[in-house]
Amino acid sequence: MKTKTLPAFLLLAILLFLINVPTKGQEDKPLNIIMIGAHPDDCDIKGGGTAAIFVEMGHNVKFVSVTNGDAGHMSEGGGMLAKRRREETKEVARRLGISYDVLDNHDGELLATLPVRLQIIRLIRDWDADVVISHRPNDYHPDHRYTAILVQDAAYMVGVPNIAPDTPPLSKNPVFLYFQDNFQKPNPFTADIAVDITSVIDKKIYAMDAHESQFYEWLPWIGRYEDEVPESSEERKEWLKTKRWGSMSPEAITALERWYGPEKAAQAEYAEAFEICEYGSRPNEEEIKRLFPMLQK
Ligand SMILES: [Zn+2]
Repeated sequence: MKTKTLPAFLLLAILLFLINVPTKGQEDKPLNIIMIGAHPDDCDIKGGGTAAIFVEMGHNVKFVSVTNGDAGHMSEGGGMLAKRRREETKEVARRLGISYDVLDNHDGELLATLPVRLQIIRLIRDWDADVVISHRPNDYHPDHRYTAILVQDAAYMVGVPNIAPDTPPLSKNPVFLYFQDNFQKPNPFTADIAVDITSVIDKKIYAMDAHESQFYEWLPWIGRYEDEVPESSEERKEWLKTKRWGSMSPEAITALERWYGPEKAAQAEYAEAFEICEYGSRPNEEEIKRLFPMLQK
């Protein structure tokens, strides 16, 4: 009797497993987020807090720098600077618990060429991305502009099997979004989504603090605020948080109110906002909440 019931029980268990796993797996499967910036620091500035929340919730985040950062410095350059920037991104990856790729394209010389588009298509496919976030094509920096074009140009092609056929196409089109910026022409940024990053602001700043060559050397030099950079490590982080990168735009506050309700939004001190790109899949509200599960709270 026992030998007869056991296989029947096992069969039932296997059947239930097979029935349940595909749907349950879909719900429980971690999301794959890829943020693509032009330089080693762009994703960190624009999406570091959102990345930290995704990681805390058990999802996978990759940052990509499309250039190697080998030009943006006043006293260093070339291969040695690229190496330093790569080391800084490795430290960011460690601090945030993410993956960070740096593509070996020259800083300040990026163009929207087919080889780089194929690099980006392969990266998005390899990451099996659900969400892709990059710059808008309106931007002061040509590397940001061309990164935006490259990512937009990848949005449809990630699903086309004959393009970059060495890397299998995605079976579903990801949602593509833009990082927030302040450029007004030809059209200003629309905050479709805002993520309250108040709970992880120190983690975001700690990650940014790893980009020593950017936040404490190059950007203060080019921005003419070199004298402001504090000496000590603790003072530097506080300075980054309060003086340089801490404020919320009115658009972000409005979007926070929409997603979190006015009460919770009023308590938020820091936010990151994103605009949904017209290319890629167009999510409804339910889908946005699935892809940005922190908005369900
Ligand atoms: Zn940049």
